[in-house]
Amino acid sequence: MPRQAAPMTAPGKITDCLERLKGSGLPQRDDLIALLSCADEKELKPLFLAADARRKAAVGDVVHLRGIVEFSNYCERNCLYCGLRRVNRQLKRYRMSNREILEAAFAVKAAKIPTLVLQSGEDSFYTTEKLCSLIQSIKAETGLVVTLSLGERPRNDYHAFREAGADRYLLKHETASPSLYGRLHPDSRQENRLQCLKWLKELRYETGAGIMVGLPGQDAAVLADDILLISSLKADMAGIGPFLPHPQTPLAACPSGMVLPVLTVLALVRLACPTINLPATTALSVLHPEGRKKALAVGANVVMPDFTPPAYRRLYDLYPGRTAGSEDTELIMETLKKEIICCGRTLQVTT
Ligand code: SF4
Repeated sequence: MPRQAAPMTAPGKITDCLERLKGSGLPQRDDLIALLSCADEKELKPLFLAADARRKAAVGDVVHLRGIVEFSNYCERNCLYCGLRRVNRQLKRYRMSNREILEAAFAVKAAKIPTLVLQSGEDSFYTTEKLCSLIQSIKAETGLVVTLSLGERPRNDYHAFREAGADRYLLKHETASPSLYGRLHPDSRQENRLQCLKWLKELRYETGAGIMVGLPGQDAAVLADDILLISSLKADMAGIGPFLPHPQTPLAACPSGMVLPVLTVLALVRLACPTINLPATTALSVLHPEGRKKALAVGANVVMPDFTPPAYRRLYDLYPGRTAGSEDTELIMETLKKEIICCGRTLQVTT
């Protein structure tokens, strides 16, 4: 929901919509639109409380940790909002060696985090064979749960990665709107994206979808369709963060997304999909120093600390500000643990 599009919702209507949403079954699109159109934090408070209660009842107080390693910032795509887009010549590109990736995986294991997320741009340097061999080594040597976030690939690749031991796959659907999808992604097609998500589900990956909130051209109706799509895909996870304009992209001059609409979408996804995994995204923490706490209070139950070696982390430049703060992983983990416990939540760690 962009900054300028926040029509007022009639008083009392929010309460009625919320009562219907608290019931079971698929939410009504009009109710979602009414709640997504509300820009009054006080009026939205009951929604946030309901989402937090639903989170507690459906998935408990545990916050799941996923250690992320961004192993290549090469990308063959040109998404309008992304700093890794192919034509960004100002970005120094890198690829981590297998040894470096494995060392990062061991650091995740040493931090007692059970899941590794391997993320990259769409980089065909990594052939099916290279990736399968990497997944097999990680599984054999660390025993970690392996999540992949490598973008769109042929079904055979997804199948081969699954056979090699990959457990989960994150592929944000980006937007439910065909026209907005077309404008933001000059070299990819929405139907292919959705096809990939269906393949991943068929192959029994735990599958993640997701969006950025505040994209130019996105409104409450589009966001309502996003929530309904996440529900109909039966996504196991949804990454919901704000749009943050990157200076080396065509959207550099657009306003950032805002905290409240992100929290509203998180809360609505929690109500629509009670058992889904919802990360408190780094992008929300960039937008607001208490972003993580705020997300955890409205339905989020996952945090993804970054285990990419600092020299590379700085170059995984999806949006500005994401690598600010400490580079010391131990310090980051300590801060994270304190924050999670402070929120009255417990941490999922391996023994
Ligand atoms: S969003 Fe993903 S696919 Fe698009 S340019 Fe960025 S890294 Fe590449």
